[in-house]
Amino acid sequence: SSYDGPIRATLFPGDGIGPEISQSVKQVFSTAEVPIEWEEHYVGDTVDPRTQSFLTWESLESVRRNGVGLKGPMATPIGKGHRSLNLTLRKELGLYANVRPCYSLPGYKTRYDDVNLVTIRENTEGEYSGLEHQVVKGVVESLKIITRQASLRVAEYAFLYAKTHGRQRVSAIHKANIMRLSDGLFLKCCREVAEKYPEITYEEVIIDNCCMMLVKNPTLFDCLVMPNLYGDIISDLCAGLIGGLGLTPSINIGEGGIALAEAVHGSAPDIAGKNLANPTALLLSAVEMLRHLKLFDKAEQIHGAVLKTIAEGKYRTGDLGGSASTTEFTKAVCDNL
Ligand code: NAD
Repeated sequence: SSYDGPIRATLFPGDGIGPEISQSVKQVFSTAEVPIEWEEHYVGDTVDPRTQSFLTWESLESVRRNGVGLKGPMATPIGKGHRSLNLTLRKELGLYANVRPCYSLPGYKTRYDDVNLVTIRENTEGEYSGLEHQVVKGVVESLKIITRQASLRVAEYAFLYAKTHGRQRVSAIHKANIMRLSDGLFLKCCREVAEKYPEITYEEVIIDNCCMMLVKNPTLFDCLVMPNLYGDIISDLCAGLIGGLGLTPSINIGEGGIALAEAVHGSAPDIAGKNLANPTALLLSAVEMLRHLKLFDKAEQIHGAVLKTIAEGKYRTGDLGGSASTTEFTKAVCDNL
């Protein structure tokens, strides 16, 4: 392919430990000579009227223009008159699918050794549509919205993801036995898409049974697709299977191929500024971003170096039971590149 200069990507270092772990990603990328030029944007300290949030219009324009970005954790500012940062990003950028690969990290012992699955969560509707009201005193109503359009969109993405990532099976997770119409429609859409992918096995698993199977034998699963609320819960459950949120990458996919990768953990105010944070989740999220950009060589190189560093066990951060600092861990990753 022709090479026409560096790819521009937006970087939100974020709050708390965000700038420290972002520094780690920048250092690793520059050591690996990844052809990416970062456009850095910080969250403002006043509400931008154009976004009704602390996120500036310019920062959102940057992601729209570049089509790709990486986001550190953002602390939720307390106070009224603004929208949640993550919600603003999701809505403004139309990020409809949250993708979280969960795989065991060799050498880091957890209850299971061979987890290798990916959860794909519908990110825009379901119980999280924000439609709640009081009917009469003592009775509230909360609307769960499931649309054909959003269900088809996330199902299409799940099957395409499975196909392009060499995965064999897609499981739709649901509760259609009770939520007949809403989850029923979600399943109907998944089935429609499944017919276009005869090479991929399609199955439907009821959410409660899915939870039991996941904790008993997570290797039973490959690629899971589900509505918003189930995805929120199941994706954290899966992160727990491989050692926690400090290790789990994620990437959000939007219309027109826009992608925003992010670590799923928060800003960790208790250890911020102390050079103690584990940059693994953000590094692996950055790897997902590289794969999305089809920079597979660089992605595998960095992925390998991170896994090797953790497997060697010599430089591990406190959350993994080690005593290495963020900068020592980062240097070890760079040495392993
Ligand atoms: P948290 O994830 O920040 O911290 C929970 C615990 O995990 C803390 O003990 C922390 O030290 C530890 N931890 C988290 N990430 C770590 C890492 N990379 N390395 C080592 N240890 C790590 O969750 P919280 O305390 O509930 O939230 C703190 C702030 O982060 C809040 O303002 C919250 O709104 C925000 N938050 C943001 C996001 C996001 O931007 N996606 C997600 C969750 C929470």
